[in-house]
Amino acid sequence: MSTATVVGAGPNGLAAAITLAREGVDVTVLEAADTVGGGTRSSEGIVPGLIHDHCAAFHPMAVGSPFLGTVDLEARGVRWRWADIDCAHPLDHGPAGLLHRSVDETAAGLWEDGRTWSGLFRGPSEAFDALSEDILGPLLGVPRHPLRLARFGAPTVLPASLLAKAFRTPQGRSLWGGVAVHTFRPLHQPLTSAIGLGIVTAGHRRGWPVVEGGTGRLTDALVAELHDLGASIETGQRITSAAQLPDTDITMFDLAPTAVADILSDRLPGRVSRAFRRFRYGPGAFKVDFAVQDGIPWKDPEVGRAGTVHLGGTFDELAAGEAAIARGRMPARPFVLLGQQYLADPTRSAGDVHPVYTYAHVPHGYTGDATEAIIAQIERFAPGFRERIIGTAVRSTTEMSRYNANYVGGDICTGSKDALQLMAGPRLTLTPYDLGTQGMYLCSAATPPGPGAHGMCGANAAERALARLRPEIAAARV
Ligand SMILES: Cc1cc2nc3c(=O)[nH]c(=O)nc-3n(C[C@H](O)[C@H](O)[C@H](O)COP(=O)(O)OP(=O)(O)OC[C@H]3O[C@@H](n4cnc5c(N)ncnc54)[C@H](O)[C@@H]3O)c2cc1C
Repeated sequence: MSTATVVGAGPNGLAAAITLAREGVDVTVLEAADTVGGGTRSSEGIVPGLIHDHCAAFHPMAVGSPFLGTVDLEARGVRWRWADIDCAHPLDHGPAGLLHRSVDETAAGLWEDGRTWSGLFRGPSEAFDALSEDILGPLLGVPRHPLRLARFGAPTVLPASLLAKAFRTPQGRSLWGGVAVHTFRPLHQPLTSAIGLGIVTAGHRRGWPVVEGGTGRLTDALVAELHDLGASIETGQRITSAAQLPDTDITMFDLAPTAVADILSDRLPGRVSRAFRRFRYGPGAFKVDFAVQDGIPWKDPEVGRAGTVHLGGTFDELAAGEAAIARGRMPARPFVLLGQQYLADPTRSAGDVHPVYTYAHVPHGYTGDATEAIIAQIERFAPGFRERIIGTAVRSTTEMSRYNANYVGGDICTGSKDALQLMAGPRLTLTPYDLGTQGMYLCSAATPPGPGAHGMCGANAAERALARLRPEIAAARV
């Protein structure tokens, strides 16, 4: 029987382990933390009964993930829940920009920008399932749907600031800017439209749902699947050197590339080691969870119907903030992502006390406290919020990387999504999962298709490992 070790039990590590175990491989998962799930954990906290997502909260990519589609999530207890409105972007003057699951409804709320929004997103969202086969794998490979991909791909190469010029209204421009900043890069740089286009397109296809009871339920489902396949998981096992690794046919690392370079040291070929040591990390996230009495008193009541709220004002303000953090400077008004998951999932609240999830974009390794800046951004669009806070839980960039070593300097994307790393992954190669050492693979969010709770990096890496371990498996699948 073939054997495998998976280091790290984030969604990608678990997906890799499941994919291998389904092919009869004897799999052991080694996880540093005392709990599994990496960026897909949640727990009760601040006040009894309140459920908080520790990291991943909204799941436009997971809900349509081809890998997660192979797991009977419903039977495993996962219920997707949608708020009335996927995302709102409030402004100082005038109504908020609103992102609905329906392209038409979104366009109708954007006045003269409605046609531009429809033109950009209708075609790709209708073709999203086919497009996923290309955008959820290595981008440097041969596309399965070249024409569709080319049509989708053309705007992705643009700087987000250039695409913003297609919009005339503050609502259209800022709604676009709020999704574009998920790339954590200065918005005038090439390819900064790619991540924003991806999450809006996925959202128009399936929405931005949360998991009832917390994202941790997704982890529970994957762990149950893995146990039924006979695999084992050991927590409290931090791997720091190759000597700790069991001698198995396959070793998969759900880790940051620099950590793999440290662990494998001279067992990595020089070219891979050099590329991993040069791997670049992006800005950080500073997270604050709140317990809030009676919810948030938004000036624009429509914002109170949105699961996700993007706080940062106009497109120009967002662009200036992202440029500052990329230079290592903390802006006075950083971009803040706020989650009201309880709107879609009332089981997360305790009576009239609701959990509110926020994080601010901050410089890499930021050592200051961004709590006041986050509260000020909320107060700006919801005066009186401060008086409703009855508790907070703060996680700085340092605490973020202590909580999960993959989030180096607080970088929640496991690596900068600059043009090269976005296209190629951790190094310039057609086989981004290979470590160049027999039987060893990288399967974390540093590999294509990148961050998210979709598990596709792990599934793709495991497929690659299986194909190389047993050429007959690959032949049978062609
Ligand atoms: C604040 C925040 C908000 C986010 N929001 C969203 C969102 O709304 N939607 C979304 O889709 N994604 C979101 N993400 C991103 C998402 O969580 C990650 O992209 C995803 O978890 C990556 O999965 P992974 O398996 O590659 O790695 P991780 O989930 O990071 O898991 C890696 C695992 O490896 C373990 N590990 C690390 N080093 C070692 C070692 N040396 N030995 C053994 N084990 C080790 C870690 O403890 C961890 O369990 C968010 C992330 C954060 C932090």
